[in-house]
Amino acid sequence: MIVVMKEGASQKEIEHVIDKLKEVGVDTHVSEGKYRTIIGVIGEEDVVAVVPLEVFPGVEKVMPVLKPYKLVSREFKPEDTIIKIGDSLIGGDYFVVIAGPCSVESEEQVLATAEAVKDAGATMLRGGAFKPRSSPYSFQGLGEEGLKILAKARDVTGLPIATEVMDTRDVALVAKYADVLQVGARNMQNFQLLTEVGKQHKPVLLKRGFSSTIEEFLMAAEYVAKAGNKNIILCERGIRTFETYTRNTLDISAIPLIKSLSHLPIIVDPSHATGRIDLVEPLSLAAIAAGANGLMIEVHRNPEEALCDGSQSLTPASFAEIMKKISSLVNTFGKKMKVD
Ligand code: PEP
Ligand code: MN
Repeated sequence: MIVVMKEGASQKEIEHVIDKLKEVGVDTHVSEGKYRTIIGVIGEEDVVAVVPLEVFPGVEKVMPVLKPYKLVSREFKPEDTIIKIGDSLIGGDYFVVIAGPCSVESEEQVLATAEAVKDAGATMLRGGAFKPRSSPYSFQGLGEEGLKILAKARDVTGLPIATEVMDTRDVALVAKYADVLQVGARNMQNFQLLTEVGKQHKPVLLKRGFSSTIEEFLMAAEYVAKAGNKNIILCERGIRTFETYTRNTLDISAIPLIKSLSHLPIIVDPSHATGRIDLVEPLSLAAIAAGANGLMIEVHRNPEEALCDGSQSLTPASFAEIMKKISSLVNTFGKKMKVD
């Protein structure tokens, strides 16, 4: 539920409400708006019901959060969540570009790609060490060896690393190396995994399941938030439709919709959404125009030799070209990629 304070309510009145809620054992999140303060209440409704908040000085009204997701909803927290990852910020006016290979194949491959994407202006490195492959006969990733390679690439370039964790048993291991824990589309409704990453202190990048509604997507984020981790980046990566010319269909309307429903940052992955290098640029630009807080793009130094997703991976040179347009459009829309 949320407690809406009156316009001009004093600090003392606000603190009084927070103290009373703490006394009954519930947590609060305070959003200081331009005109009024909203206090989000995190806890069981019946515990809170014993506190007659409506009669407290300075309280205007007490309202339930009507959406099934609470902590991640805009109602609960009107201001944008801004997450710090290394030297970058994401959310609000801050924009990130996460680039790198689909999977970690070798140290040389990752280091070369990391240097190249950094030079082109990427703010974070991606690469899978644990790969969710449709076929059990396909390359499954290098596991911990891959995580070590990613960590080395971070040491060399300074770029924070985002990498997928697929199994609850690997969460602590991946969290030891990664700056961002990625939960992939296939695991978006793996509720145990969501709860486990929710117990970690590293930000979580949650990808939309390819047959999931926006509400299911936000409910998945709610699992992570409920377990304690509020640093969640949502990622629209295309959904399954009847269209066969693209791998998936990018749901561009999900971006402004999610921004109105949730305070969490949302980024777009045009590589997995389309499966086609020729569509990465137009969809990246469309995502920025629709209000996305960042992009995740697959780049391989030699896509012909990629062990995974070569057909959707850009070369470093084409990524650098596209980055010029991305940076300029990010500027046009009043967002920034560098923290000043
Ligand atoms: C990925 O980003 O490496 C990946 C496997 O994507 P998705 O989970 O969106 O399919
Ligand atoms: Mn991939």
